[in-house]
Amino acid sequence: MSSSTQLLTSILDANETYAEAFARSDPVLLQKLAKGQSPRIFWLGCSDSRVSAELATGVAPGSIFVHRNIAQCFHPGDLSASAALAYAVHVLKVEAIIVCGHTGCGGVKAGMQAAVESKQREDKGEKVEPPKPGSVEDTIAKWIAPIKSLASSQLPSCTSDPLEALELAHLTDAHVRDTVKAVADSDLVRAAWDEGRELSVHGWVYHVATAKLRDLDCGWKGVGVRADSLSRPSTYAESEPRE
Ligand SMILES: [Zn+2]
Repeated sequence: MSSSTQLLTSILDANETYAEAFARSDPVLLQKLAKGQSPRIFWLGCSDSRVSAELATGVAPGSIFVHRNIAQCFHPGDLSASAALAYAVHVLKVEAIIVCGHTGCGGVKAGMQAAVESKQREDKGEKVEPPKPGSVEDTIAKWIAPIKSLASSQLPSCTSDPLEALELAHLTDAHVRDTVKAVADSDLVRAAWDEGRELSVHGWVYHVATAKLRDLDCGWKGVGVRADSLSRPSTYAESEPRE
């Protein structure tokens, strides 16, 4: 048996164990879920294997409607993210949207590095050929373009070490804030607010090293109306190693 077959077999075995334990511990919930879902939260998070919405929050299945992509982006015209948001807000009628970034995000890091490389080439007067359309480089460059722009906007115009001038944790927070704003400004969310619906949009960051969530207190609950602060007195953010 190949190692990947073993891996998949072990995952199916784990599912057997999970299903049996679930049926034993909460048969009522299992029956309820079989009839439908009524989550109260929409989660826009990163695809990163270390950040699970359900595990991080400890909620039961059926509690969170999730859309994940690399670096929790909400690009204009992204049909997949828009469809998930539309369904969550207008069909499931969720009450809160959480945009959740995380420490050590590879997507944010790639955007940061792309901004630094662009600046270094610019400083040297080097011309950059665009990647071949449809290539791996082209696909990634297009996806991280807004993060690269954000990173570029934070680069000081004159610095000997641009990578030193940017901080991944700071950029991660800024990207979550930008994404919260993009979601709150979307027609889909504004339509819900126009209907007088109670719906809030929040920005959180998951700290991989501690498994703790931090509220960035950058949320909205209406056009131009800030969401209530969810921040609690805490010191873990300060104790997180800098990246
Ligand atoms: Zn990530």
